[in-house]
Amino acid sequence: MLMQDKVSLVTGVANHRSIAWSIARALDREGSRLAISYLGEREREGIDRIVGELSRPPLLVPCDVTRSESVDETLAAVGNEFGRLDSLVHAIAFARREDLEGRYTDTSRDGYHLALDVSAYSLNALVRAAEPLMIDGGGIVALTFLGSERACRNYNVMGVAKAALESGIRYLASELGAKGIRVNGLSAGPVRTLAARGIKDFPAMLRAHEERAALRRNLTVEEVANAALFLCSPWSSGITGEIIYVDGGYRMMGG
Ligand code: NAP
Repeated sequence: MLMQDKVSLVTGVANHRSIAWSIARALDREGSRLAISYLGEREREGIDRIVGELSRPPLLVPCDVTRSESVDETLAAVGNEFGRLDSLVHAIAFARREDLEGRYTDTSRDGYHLALDVSAYSLNALVRAAEPLMIDGGGIVALTFLGSERACRNYNVMGVAKAALESGIRYLASELGAKGIRVNGLSAGPVRTLAARGIKDFPAMLRAHEERAALRRNLTVEEVANAALFLCSPWSSGITGEIIYVDGGYRMMGG
C-alpha cells in the first residue's frame, strides 16, 4: 500500500485505454483516495462506465485546462472533499489533427498556441492551483514523449509542446522543492490510445519501437502506470526535476 492515506488527482482520463486510467487504477490499488477530472459531459459518460472497477468511488470533477477558472474550480472541489492533495498526474495533450502530419514548418500560429496551451501551460495552471493543497509535499508527474528532444515524424508541434512541458517540469521542481513537492516527467514509449490515434502513421511508430527497443517489444500501459505510481509515491522521495524514460530501452540504443 504505497499510497495509503494519500489523495491523488488524475487528469486526462478519456476512456479505459487512457494511460491516466491505468495510473488511476494503480494509485487506487495502492490505497490512494482519488479525484479524477474529465473534460466535459460527453467524456463523463465514458468515465461513468469504468469507475466501478475502482475499489471506492472517486471524486469526479470537470476540468478544461484551457480555462483558468475551470482549473481553480477543480482544485477547490478536491480541497472541499479531501482537504489536501499528495499527488497530481498530468496526462493531457492536444493538437489539431492537421498539425500532426505533414510539415512542422507549416504549423499555424493558432495551432501552435492551442497545442502549447493544452499540453504544456496546463501543467503550470494545475500545479499553481494544487500547491496550497499539497501541505505535506508530494509527487507530481507529467506524461511526455521522446518527440521533445528528437524530430519524430508527424509528432511535429506536439514535440515542441513536450519540450516546453519538460523544461517547465524543471522550473517547477526547482521552485517547489523547498516545500517537498517533487515534479517529474515520465517519457513513455508509444501506447495505443485515443490521443495516439490522432498521430498520422502511429502504427509505424509502434513497429519501429518494437524493432529497435532493447526489449524488442512495445510497452504495456500497466508498465507506464507502475512507473507513474513510483514517481507519485514516497518511494521516489529523492527524485525531482527528472525525465524518466519508460520506453523499453528505445532512446538509449545506438545505430
Ligand atoms: P488519451 O487517453 O486520449 O488522453 C489525453 C487526454 O487529454 C484526454 O483525456 C483528453 O480529454 C485530455 N484533454 C485534451 N484537451 C483537454 C483540455 N482542454 N482540458 C482537459 N483535458 C484535455 O491519450 P493518452 O495517450 O493516454 O495521453 C495521455 C498523456 O500521455 C498525454 O500527455 C500524451 O501526450 C502522453 N503520452 C502518450 C503516449 C502514447 O503513445 N499514447 C506516449 C507518451 C506520452 P478528451 O479525450 O476527453 O478530449
